Amino acid sequence: MNKPQSWEARADEFSMYGFTDLPSVHERGAVIVTHGEGPYVHDVNGKRYLDANSGLWNMVAGFDHKGLAEAAKAQYDRFPGYHAFFGRMSDQTVMLSEKLVEVSPFPRGKVFYTNSGSEANDTMVKMLWFLHGSEGNPKRRKILTRWNAYHGVTAVSASMTGKPYNEVFGLPLDGFIHLTCPHYWRFGEEGESEDQFTQRLARELEETIQREGADTIAGFFAEPVMGAGGVIPPSRGYFQAVQPVLKKYGIPLISDEVICGFGRTGNTWGCETFGFVPDAIISSKNLTAGLFPMGAVILGPELADRLQAAVEKIEEFPHGFTASGHPVGCAIALKAIDVVMNEGLAENVRQLAPRMEAGLQAIMDRSEHIGELRGIGFMWALEAVKDKATKTPFDGSLSVSERIANTCTDLGLICRPLGQSIVLCPPFILTKEQMDEMFDKLEQALNKVFAEVA
Ligand SMILES: *Cc1c(COP(=O)(O)O)cnc(C)c1O
Repeated sequence: MNKPQSWEARADEFSMYGFTDLPSVHERGAVIVTHGEGPYVHDVNGKRYLDANSGLWNMVAGFDHKGLAEAAKAQYDRFPGYHAFFGRMSDQTVMLSEKLVEVSPFPRGKVFYTNSGSEANDTMVKMLWFLHGSEGNPKRRKILTRWNAYHGVTAVSASMTGKPYNEVFGLPLDGFIHLTCPHYWRFGEEGESEDQFTQRLARELEETIQREGADTIAGFFAEPVMGAGGVIPPSRGYFQAVQPVLKKYGIPLISDEVICGFGRTGNTWGCETFGFVPDAIISSKNLTAGLFPMGAVILGPELADRLQAAVEKIEEFPHGFTASGHPVGCAIALKAIDVVMNEGLAENVRQLAPRMEAGLQAIMDRSEHIGELRGIGFMWALEAVKDKATKTPFDGSLSVSERIANTCTDLGLICRPLGQSIVLCPPFILTKEQMDEMFDKLEQALNKVFAEVA
């Protein structure tokens, strides 16, 4: 119970919580954070937590990076705000677009800015609807995604998200089609090899396209590694199997790199890690290392040209947000890209990823109730199961992953419950010692909770 007038009580009274397990908050109170250093945050009661979730995947340079704050301050002093409508935009916006195309997998391209990842996906869908319409294919409007995908929360991006919780909003909207999640451990059938599973998913894609009619499909969106779906890397060869099917039917492949982009998988892009070149990239989260709300659509050459032709016809692209290409956001993003790529952060992910995997693997091997470890780079999930051999989950009413996460919180470690799994996606600045602290606290919490529920 919250003490009257406490921060926790004030939060409860006046603020609505998004994506929050209310029984946990009612019982424990919210954690009200005030500041941080490196990968740690502090709450109003003076308690320190190792934030193994990088805030919400995005604070990859930690919570007090001096260079990033200075870049923000310098731009606030120089020119604190502007828009990108009516043929005007800030110099920072021009520079960031150049940079994004330079570091993209594309030889050339074009960038459009939003305030979030959801809006970037929404924008991409509108771009596809607009260009197909302009090219005489107004029926090409359906969007293909996968179950367990997370693409955001606006009406369109929530429709792309493949999570049952969207039913409370009466979503998805018509014309958003969800294909099988490429999670072999969970969805592979009895006796089916991983390669056969991948081939089955490629066949499902082709059958879906033929059933719906290729001339009704606008695009296919996929995260290289599903993030908020529970850190699910694709089954082996997945993108190599689906991309030719999409190409055959002229369906653009959009890589939602909101989490994977800028270093999370060990390379600049997740598509690089998984060996494919998409038609466009969606970026946000790491783009500003969490210091500014910003998203970007990065179009590869073909889509950029086709969209440009569509825009030339009507002499305008009637879309944009007031703060699209905000100069402070762009200045921060320019600095963040430099910090991640040139100050050893991406390198640290590459160096320490095998250590992270080995440490989590050892925890799994010592536990009766971790069924799967999955991930890559600095994004991992441990899946709790009642029975390892049969992969039987714990009864949902036990809220096992919430209990593990809450116990971690008590121990000073922030991690995230997702379904029956625990997600760890620490900031890229994590040291070996901090990684060991994460392992120790996590294992203590797992042992405690499994002893209670098993
Ligand atoms: C977080 C996320 C989004 C949505 O971004 P917001 O900024 O929260 O709107 C979209 N796609 C992926 C892959 C994400 O992880």
